[in-house]
Amino acid sequence: MSAAGVVDPARVVDESGRVVLEGVGKRYDTVRGPVDAVADVTLEIAPGEVAAVVGASGCGKSTVLRMLAGFERPTAGSLVVGGRPVRGPGPDRGVVFQDYGLFPWLTVAENVRWGPRRQRLPRGVVRRRTEAVIETVGLTRFADRFPGELSGGMQQRVALARVLANEPAVLLMDEPFGALDALTRTSMQHELRRIHREAGTTILLVTHSIEEAVYLADRVVVMAGGASVGVPGHVREVVAVDLAGERDVNAPDFNAVERRIAALVHAGTDGPGGGADAADRA
Ligand code: ADP
Ligand code: MG
Repeated sequence: MSAAGVVDPARVVDESGRVVLEGVGKRYDTVRGPVDAVADVTLEIAPGEVAAVVGASGCGKSTVLRMLAGFERPTAGSLVVGGRPVRGPGPDRGVVFQDYGLFPWLTVAENVRWGPRRQRLPRGVVRRRTEAVIETVGLTRFADRFPGELSGGMQQRVALARVLANEPAVLLMDEPFGALDALTRTSMQHELRRIHREAGTTILLVTHSIEEAVYLADRVVVMAGGASVGVPGHVREVVAVDLAGERDVNAPDFNAVERRIAALVHAGTDGPGGGADAADRA
């Protein structure tokens, strides 16, 4: 395992997976007036790095992810992926949400090959990729099933396979395992770690679970603030997860990192207490 935040140079093929946010802000104009969802987010994620984003509800985690996905435009600053400013969605960025977003009328294989086909890749490439990623997520036996015939965990695997089939440089995941039961979630986390080891994709993962963040990430981005607190969402601190070897969620050093991050998430006037007070006053 590489040291925290440092990516094995042998695995980094190019710069396409580098993510750079500089002074990023998002202001929504609402009927009640402008709302600063996030302000001044500056962050760099190295190619092949796994970064997790944690923070209280409403602090702007999803907003940052949506801007990186190209679904929303920033109102300040710049977002650059692989050296190119983000102008809209693109196959270089794969997005996985909590709801799987599968086409229910297509089989697993058809869902997976939809992206590569849309990119007009040669038929043979589409077929090989489809088979390979379905194998990667362990669903070869279910390739001809429809999403409705699969469990939640399996559907999330299909969603992951569908994104991986585009061979994105960056995976953007917004609470991808939030709807899964604990056991399935743990197995998906293992799976994601394995896939990451093989593919070396840059991953930005938004999660509610500090344990999940510490288990998966090289660095954990702690966000704070939020419109309901009256402070725009912002990066409070970035914590390097400096754990050697295979990570063990029961190990004392693992728990120490968890506690440190939990303290950061809940610290200050914009923690849950302050947030509730501010919301009451609003
Ligand atoms: P998180 O994902 O951390 O829970 P979000 O990014 O979803 O937070 O939201 C951050 C803030 O921006 C919240 O206060 C939310 O109400 C506000 N917000 C998000 N989307 C919109 C929108 N389309 N219009 C107005 N406000 C929004
Ligand atoms: Mg969110």
